[in-house]
Amino acid sequence: MKLENRIAIITGGGRGIGRAIALEFARHGARVVLAARTAQDVEKTAAQIGNEGTALPVVCDVSDVASVQLMFARVLVKFGGGADILVNNAGIAESAPLAKTDDDLWQRHLAINLSGTFYCTRAAVPAMLERGWGRVINVASIAGKTGAPYIAAYAASKHGVLGLTRSIALELAAKGITVNAICPGYVDTDMAARGVENVTAKTGRSAEQALEAIKKTSPQNRLITVEEVAALALLLASEEGRGINGQAINIDGGAVLF
Ligand code: NAD
Repeated sequence: MKLENRIAIITGGGRGIGRAIALEFARHGARVVLAARTAQDVEKTAAQIGNEGTALPVVCDVSDVASVQLMFARVLVKFGGGADILVNNAGIAESAPLAKTDDDLWQRHLAINLSGTFYCTRAAVPAMLERGWGRVINVASIAGKTGAPYIAAYAASKHGVLGLTRSIALELAAKGITVNAICPGYVDTDMAARGVENVTAKTGRSAEQALEAIKKTSPQNRLITVEEVAALALLLASEEGRGINGQAINIDGGAVLF
């Protein structure tokens, strides 16, 4: 039970990577707060975690600072304290060529992927400072380190997340708080499935061909599983992970080597 009694907020905790992290943290004794824009998925995951009182589903739009503040207020009421662990996982990924990247698409990526991470971290850190212990884990992407065609908004937002991670990590390094980013390649979730659909729609390739092309972006020729990402998050959240700080750790089968 590496996270016994820890309070962990996982944004986007109702499905995909966030859900796997929530289940893994709960398995290790954490009380988990699952936040997402709509109730359905987070309520389902909370019910799956089961034990009365250990999972709190919250509707929260991380791009809305008032909604984030409300979530932290609810956590305080429910658990009597702030979060020990914050996983900034909520995110969107839409693709478009530059000319078709309109203001709305651009702003949405910055608002959710980057500002959402900032708002939640700023709200979480005071309680961590009081306790002298905390973990912030940002689910970024290898697109936070490299570029690719048609994902300018997504890549820019994730590059921003890495800058935020590194700066806050140094600011808090002597206070018992670590701040790290996880940088996955393609992970087997709805997001990757939408990527396949997108390639199919835009190129006329079959779904199988599109999936093969996505797999080939990894030298391991496969998608990463959500459980692999959750295992890395657990290490970063645990006591044993205390020396890992300010890092952006790739989990991509070796696609990006820096
Ligand atoms: P997903 O689409 O299955 O889940 C995204 C989650 O974020 C959902 O629960 C959704 O409700 C939530 N969300 C979106 N906007 C939100 C908002 N404004 N407020 C609160 N919650 C919001 O995606 P996933 O694959 O599980 O992705 C999780 C994270 O991992 C994202 O940050 C994504 O960029 C990153 N990532 C995913 C992949 C991949 O291939 N799936 C690769 C690299 C990085």
